[in-house]
Amino acid sequence: MDNLITDFNDKTIVYEQLLDDFKILLKKNTLKFTIQREVILETLYKSDEHLTPESLHNLIKNTFPDLKIGIATVYRTLSLLEDSKLVTSLSFGAQGKKYELGAKNHHDHLICTECGNITEFVDENIEKRQHLIAKELGFKMSDHSMQIYGTCKECQK
Ligand SMILES: [Zn+2]
Ligand SMILES: [Zn+2]
Repeated sequence: MDNLITDFNDKTIVYEQLLDDFKILLKKNTLKFTIQREVILETLYKSDEHLTPESLHNLIKNTFPDLKIGIATVYRTLSLLEDSKLVTSLSFGAQGKKYELGAKNHHDHLICTECGNITEFVDENIEKRQHLIAKELGFKMSDHSMQIYGTCKECQK
């Protein structure tokens, strides 16, 4: 399958637009726009990875060593961002969640339950089939997410 695209890191939104949406979101929730919250958004925007709250927290601490930011702020901000669909998450069961920017081109995921590695993909046939199934069942489809769980190439060795 040579035509399978596996890189979806292009953002479909410019940062300034995302930042505006974020400020509106904070206002709606009567939360202050703080440098900590902005850094969370900016780091998510710049990252091409799917990040756990802990890895996001570490990334921020390494990039901004002087910034005081608690893990609780990261958790709270992530769930706020997720509720409003600005970020999306992938569930690793008991191991928690990994987050990525909502404003990336649509893609599905292969998730390794051994090492946590994530591969992104889109298959046109799968996409089409889902639309057809929804249509056949009289369902008005707005979105979908698909996660395939298993063991990656490396972990099978
Ligand atoms: Zn693996
Ligand atoms: Zn992804």
